[in-house]
Amino acid sequence: MNAPEQVTVHAASARLSLTWNNGQTQWIDNATLRERCPCSTCSRLKHSGQAAQIESRVAIVDVQPMGYGVQIVFSDGHAQGIYPWDYLAGIA
Ligand SMILES: [Zn+2]
Repeated sequence: MNAPEQVTVHAASARLSLTWNNGQTQWIDNATLRERCPCSTCSRLKHSGQAAQIESRVAIVDVQPMGYGVQIVFSDGHAQGIYPWDYLAGIA
């Protein structure tokens, strides 16, 4: 899967936008991204039915390109999640 042409953090609306190379722009709420964190810690919590409490106004502090996706650093200190492009594209 190709990387998006642009990944932008929108602090005011607490969303991330991804502009794909077909010209479509996808918007994802920060809280949704945090909730869907694919790291092993969050996956384990989800499987045990005790998902972490997500602040509804959680902010994105940093986005690090990782080639096949991005690592997202959240304001609650969580930064383990690396989101592959196809995973992000699949988040409605
Ligand atoms: Zn996580």
